Amino acid sequence: ASLEGLAAEAPATHRIQDRTDAPTQVAEHGFRNAPDTDPSLPANQAWAAGIRERARDSRIGIDLVEAATLRDAAALESTIETAIAANADWRALSGDERAAILHRAGAELEARRAELMEVAAAEAGKTLDQSDPEVSEAIDFAHYYAERARDLDRVDGAVAVPARLIAVTPPWNFPIAIPAGSTLAALASGASVIVKPARATARTGAAMVEALWAAGVPKEVLQLVQLGARELGDALIGDPRVDRVILTGGFETAQGFRRIRPDLQLLAETSGKNAIIVTPSADYDLAAKDIVASAFGHAGQKCSAASLAILVGQAGRSKRLHNQLVDGVRSLTIGMPWEPTAQMGPIIAPAEGKLLEGLTTLGEGESWVIEPKRLDGDGKLWSPGVRAGVRRGSEYHRTEYFGPILGIMRVETLEEAIAVVNEVDYGLTSGIHSLDVDEIGTWLDTIEAGNLYVNRGITGAIVQRQPFGGWKRSVVGPTTKAGGPSYLMPLVDWRTAEARQ
Ligand code: GLU
Repeated sequence: ASLEGLAAEAPATHRIQDRTDAPTQVAEHGFRNAPDTDPSLPANQAWAAGIRERARDSRIGIDLVEAATLRDAAALESTIETAIAANADWRALSGDERAAILHRAGAELEARRAELMEVAAAEAGKTLDQSDPEVSEAIDFAHYYAERARDLDRVDGAVAVPARLIAVTPPWNFPIAIPAGSTLAALASGASVIVKPARATARTGAAMVEALWAAGVPKEVLQLVQLGARELGDALIGDPRVDRVILTGGFETAQGFRRIRPDLQLLAETSGKNAIIVTPSADYDLAAKDIVASAFGHAGQKCSAASLAILVGQAGRSKRLHNQLVDGVRSLTIGMPWEPTAQMGPIIAPAEGKLLEGLTTLGEGESWVIEPKRLDGDGKLWSPGVRAGVRRGSEYHRTEYFGPILGIMRVETLEEAIAVVNEVDYGLTSGIHSLDVDEIGTWLDTIEAGNLYVNRGITGAIVQRQPFGGWKRSVVGPTTKAGGPSYLMPLVDWRTAEARQ
């Protein structure tokens, strides 16, 4: 068969069929995570080749974004009014009724897996191994929050009163899963939603929203917007009719929202500066593999990414790990996502500011083990960098760079390693590689982060199994967990059950 012919057939074979009948599955067997595409199957390889071929020229979402762009205050006003007016019917649905629509949304997202991956590659430079799990996560959010919508009707002694309008402002680094998760949660809670995808990934966000509309979420209830002027963003956040804002972005952005509106009910997942500790008892082969994947997956552009490897013990002992890490990083191939060999893609925009500084300058005592190199004219394609000699308390120790850079720090003891991690302002993800249960126990008891991973990578949280959310400056607002049992709770107001009669 020709490549094209195979590609056309492939979507049916790459799917696990029983996901398409999700409502029954969920009711009968409980929640199940959507499977990622198996890249070892020949049909799936042809399917992926088709996506890569189309990605370079993809035009998905262009018209939708154009139509959704608000150019003045009057357009914003009418969007808000329409969303609020439409909420009367949406909030009146039972949890069961909203759940049925959300389950359909899960099936729609699955049906559009290839399209979502195509546009994320085109727009965000996401390689397919990174975007495939993102689609799975979006599907998981749909089915999982559908069931949590039912739970809201069943809380003893309290009645959930939906917000009328929730604004969702997601980031560009997970342009499918994060806008989907926040939007689906808000819809599940009974609110209308105005979602403003990040400008850099506006088309991917639009493709996600289109899937939800196709599933039966009314367009008035779920409004897709792009803001044609900066003041409109401030006006949206500042509008008292917006009951809550769900933000994923930098800590500074969250602070900015608070300045615009001090009484804003904000649910924000913010920055991270995450480390993996490796003790002398660790399986070094596994540690090296997990550190490379956690540091350089999506070119390090994850709040969850590993930015620091902290090697415990004598330099002689961990020399082998050091060498394995260097080998692993050197063998990564860099390229655009439509190049079949690319393992690490570009950064979202030409490096500037903090990131450029991180890619080009060293702190005191630091040296490049692998110096990052600019590989293209405009500064989006960089080879990964590894710096050794990172010192406790240094700029690199405490700063989030959000790009393909890993620092190596050596310490004498596990206690010192834990102190190094806890000194950072953020507390999002954290990892340890150790085969000693006492070491793992000490670490679990004292480490200050929301997502803890033992003997595995520290990115790629999974709905229900590893709900995602941090501590300290990695969160602004309630410390909830996306993809966890209580995520919908702070999205509604609660009143006593008696008030209903
Ligand atoms: N949930 C993602 C993960 O576990 C990270 C999300 C983010 O970067 O904001 O890798």
